[in-house]
Amino acid sequence: MTSNHELSLGIDIGGTKTAIALIHRTRGLLASLTLSTDASQGFHNAVTRIGDSILVLLDRAHRDPQSLAGIGIGCAGPVDPSRGLINNPYTLEGWNHADIVTPLQQRFSVPVRLENDADTAAYGELHSGAGRGADSLVMLTLGTGIGGAVIRNGQIYRGAQGEHPELGHLLVADDGPPCYCGIRGCFESIASGTAIAANGKQHGFPGAREVFQAADAGHPAAAQIIDQAVAACARAGWTLCHTFLPERLILGGGIMDDHFEPFAAAIRRRIAPATQFTPANVSIIRAALGNQAGMIGAAAMMWTA
Ligand SMILES: [Zn+2]
Repeated sequence: MTSNHELSLGIDIGGTKTAIALIHRTRGLLASLTLSTDASQGFHNAVTRIGDSILVLLDRAHRDPQSLAGIGIGCAGPVDPSRGLINNPYTLEGWNHADIVTPLQQRFSVPVRLENDADTAAYGELHSGAGRGADSLVMLTLGTGIGGAVIRNGQIYRGAQGEHPELGHLLVADDGPPCYCGIRGCFESIASGTAIAANGKQHGFPGAREVFQAADAGHPAAAQIIDQAVAACARAGWTLCHTFLPERLILGGGIMDDHFEPFAAAIRRRIAPATQFTPANVSIIRAALGNQAGMIGAAAMMWTA
């Protein structure tokens, strides 16, 4: 899909908030607003409010819908990009087989496309963040959960049925804690904010933030929890580098805001002895766009992806 239009609209739908931005192809973000997702108010209610917000943004920029290359949407998965369906009743109550593409296409008469939010975030970093200039990258997002995406030859990498890679479920420990996916020892079940908080609770810490703080202060149990998370990330990094041979491995998400260095250093140490690729050719870098990556990537895929 290519377009000569200089403007595109990017939407990032999360469990709590939905962010919408008007993006210029070279000048970047022109205007944005955030609304409450309020999934439990019903899907049609949300689509109507999203559409109204799009009009507000266009009005602010003195543009009409026909000036848009399209509307790109990144949403917390599972999603079905080929049919434009959100299938995520887990964090978006009641949103199952929810077609978000058709109503927005009908209302604005422009192309509309849906992707998993991890893919749009990686695409945003590729377009104008830490991935700029790269052809192949892997992005890991460590926050409440762990998400990831792979870009190959400038395109979002998909499975045989168009699926999104589930990098949070890489197996990194033989006998780790149980994961909701059905096995033990997944990356996400050890290194996500949720996992760190759950482990910390057993030692009286109220949340993941306090576990990190206590680890920094030398608390042995907290340090062990963080060491496990860092080691899990290093193992995941080893597997991802050997599988995809990326130019860049980008680390994003809330945990990376304050703790990027120890995680990045552990991956670098882990891959340093690798003999089947050149570790020095893989840059382990921090994501650059923060929580704007998703909406920037969603907009950008309407030009090029
Ligand atoms: Zn799992």
